[in-house]
Amino acid sequence: MTTVGIRGTFFDFVDDPWKHIGNEQAAARFHQDGLMIVTDGVIKAFGPYDKVAAAHPGVEVTHIKDRIILPGFIDGHIHLPQTRVLGAYGEQLLPWLQKSIYPEEIKYKDRNYAREGVKRFLDALLAAGTTTCQAFTSSSPVSTEELFEEASRRNMRVIAGLTGIDRNAPAEFIDTPENFYRDSKRLIAEYHNKGRNLYAITPRFAFGASPELLKACQRLKHEHPDCWVNTHISENPAECTGVLVEHPDCQDYLGVYEKFDLVGPKFSGGHGVYLSNNEFRRMSKKGAAVVFCPCSNLFLGSGLFRLGRATDPEHRVKMSFGTDVGGGNRFSMIAVLDDAYKVGMCNNTLLDGSIDPARKDLAEAERNKLSPYRGFWSVTLGGAEGLYIDDKLGNFEPGKEADFVALDPNAGQLAQPWHQSLVADGAGPQTVDEAANMLFAVMMVGDDRCVDETWVMGKRLYKKS
Ligand SMILES: [Zn+2]
Repeated sequence: MTTVGIRGTFFDFVDDPWKHIGNEQAAARFHQDGLMIVTDGVIKAFGPYDKVAAAHPGVEVTHIKDRIILPGFIDGHIHLPQTRVLGAYGEQLLPWLQKSIYPEEIKYKDRNYAREGVKRFLDALLAAGTTTCQAFTSSSPVSTEELFEEASRRNMRVIAGLTGIDRNAPAEFIDTPENFYRDSKRLIAEYHNKGRNLYAITPRFAFGASPELLKACQRLKHEHPDCWVNTHISENPAECTGVLVEHPDCQDYLGVYEKFDLVGPKFSGGHGVYLSNNEFRRMSKKGAAVVFCPCSNLFLGSGLFRLGRATDPEHRVKMSFGTDVGGGNRFSMIAVLDDAYKVGMCNNTLLDGSIDPARKDLAEAERNKLSPYRGFWSVTLGGAEGLYIDDKLGNFEPGKEADFVALDPNAGQLAQPWHQSLVADGAGPQTVDEAANMLFAVMMVGDDRCVDETWVMGKRLYKKS
């Protein structure tokens, strides 16, 4: 048994800030001088330094000074085999997939290529402060195997699965429903719940899935009900139209996944830009999650996710945030918060009555504003709830896994320290509000240079050079 202590300034969440409108700090927890005791990677105690240190004498303590320590970021939607092709120019979703994405993903049939891709992918995540992701792989099992193997070596918690597609893609990329079922079965037996690996049954999207492929997913979920289901939903207008042509008996995009019993707890649909109010309501009832990917939605021109609608208390939808690399052009969840804030502000303008008085909805307009509480909750505890892994991680509750990121609030642009000195002097944040204000400057003025150290299961895996 190995026990270590981490001392520093800690900021995490105990509740959803959207439930505390006007008093969001009630959802957060701040220890200006805190201590976390970690035994074999799991948090044993957490609280003010004086109190926790007195109860744990003799523990070797690492003091992380002048940083704000948060739970490791959770990327709820990312594509491993697009690591090399993020930032491809000039197309919307469907032509972008054909031109830039499928040709790259085909290369992941080659084990050596996949192995290099996985290393670069996980290195990029750690450097961005991301400790857990839910990842799409490729249509070949090789990349799924390599991802789980390398994540196990690093002891990182990942959710992933063979990514099924049997239509609307190049012949050498698609697979048959029979092969997909057989390979998924084998991968579930080999990797699900082995170490920190979790398996997601992964139909890529309804536009690339025949009814037979979705039937194979339904059978897999029925035989392995504790597995996750990860896919895309309602990302782009042409895709949404195409889905209803492929599945003419379904009333809307969500209806396709409902038809095959895939929508429920542990179901994630990436994007959801064009989900109707009715679809939000059905997802909410079923406990299904949507993953908001603003960098991607802006980069591919997909549209503005209705954050204030998804968070409507009448039909609140579980939600995590994702980069969607390579539709997203950054690995950084800080960049995701930056773009999410801007999407929210555009929605705010659309709803405040200044453009169209008939659409005025001030309550929804307000819910679109991504405060630092809402933002950092969404990429930590909220993201974990969306993925149904909040029993394992997401905040610093004893019993959870000790994955965390130490942010340097003064890093980034040259003028950042001067900017932060408006909030707090050199001694750093003294109150939860000061910490939140400094974190807002991290997400809007800073960038991934603010990620100084990333720790996984109580071990430091990344330090900024
Ligand atoms: Zn995606």
